[in-house]
Amino acid sequence: MTDLTIDMQRLQQDINELGQIGRDADRGLHRRAFSEGDRAGREWFRGRLEAAGLDVWQDGAANLHGRLDYDGKRPVVAMGSHLDTVPGGGPLDGALGVLIGLEVLRTAKENAVDLAYPLEVIDFTDEEGRFGGMFGSQAMAGKLTPESISHARDLEGVTLVEAMANWGLNADDALAARRDPHTLHAFIETHIEQGPVLDRRGLSVGVVEAITGLFKWEVRLKGQPNHAGTTPMDMRIDPFQGLAEFGGEINRLIEEHGSPNSRATIGRVELAPGAANTVPGMATFSFEVRDTDEKVLTALAHAARRTLSSLARRRDLMFEFDVLSEIDPVRCDPGIVQTIEAQAERMGLEYITMPSGAAHDTQSMSRITRTGMIFVPSLQGRSHSAAEWTNWEDIETGANLTLQSALALAARQ
Ligand SMILES: [Zn+2]
Repeated sequence: MTDLTIDMQRLQQDINELGQIGRDADRGLHRRAFSEGDRAGREWFRGRLEAAGLDVWQDGAANLHGRLDYDGKRPVVAMGSHLDTVPGGGPLDGALGVLIGLEVLRTAKENAVDLAYPLEVIDFTDEEGRFGGMFGSQAMAGKLTPESISHARDLEGVTLVEAMANWGLNADDALAARRDPHTLHAFIETHIEQGPVLDRRGLSVGVVEAITGLFKWEVRLKGQPNHAGTTPMDMRIDPFQGLAEFGGEINRLIEEHGSPNSRATIGRVELAPGAANTVPGMATFSFEVRDTDEKVLTALAHAARRTLSSLARRRDLMFEFDVLSEIDPVRCDPGIVQTIEAQAERMGLEYITMPSGAAHDTQSMSRITRTGMIFVPSLQGRSHSAAEWTNWEDIETGANLTLQSALALAARQ
């Protein structure tokens, strides 16, 4: 279709400049949503959009948009991700997708590419979830309510309403950021993988087919606390033994009821009373399961419940659990996945299709438009840390694949 390529030197300079904003002595980035670092990052980005001669627009959820050839009539091919970071985050999580989007718009503009659909780059507000998660893209998808806005607060108790008021913004305006699906033709998010798969396989790009859903339980096994010295082994009702047995069953559960995309994790365990010389009376633990298929998730939930209740019965334990969260998996649009694959093949790239195990703004955007995602490798799978990095050659490949895919979607057919 086109032999255009992005200007790697310019993209590299953007990544390096933005990577200094919010940088702390520990070398991690601090651009939590509505923090000073976030403000500085956005101001820098706004300046880059203006310098590129793009139309700049901020919506009611403080999402920042740059637009090329926007006329309010034709739906846009949008790209984007987020500039906010976790505390002590890395330079690429989110930022890469925003900067690549900007570079695609600049490349199209400089080369006066004739497009059927305008291009747009979006920096989504608070993807990392200071106030709950994916605030900006949820707003665009129309998922917010006056209640969810007024109840949102961070771990320190600061409300979203206060944080936005500090910036002279009215949080209720986020309701108006809802985007009419007719104004969107497609959405592509380019992101670091944040896992080890592409790096291990030596691949520059992955095409994301689906974003995993999950369920998260808090499980409690109740037994009988007792003296560790005087209670014989066969007279104990020890919930930790039940927990340990369940932990040992996880791989079997996945083999029998899961898929290659399944993941199950016990990430937090608490024993009470929690003394070295006391048989615990209660084991409380988290159980989090992910998969790209809703049916698989349901099957795993049933199997886990059966396993827990049968081991509890055998061991005289009481078993109960609360569902802390349930998120449905999201499929990327098959047509867009195909478009990206076709461009990768045309460019002679070796790639794999893969699931995303982490949540992304694409999840919300899938509710209002056709979406696709491109992954580039994370060195050693590291992310949410200052050690997060991707080789420049892979960044360039990912950016050019984004460019070709966006142009293919926006082209006159
Ligand atoms: Zn991210």
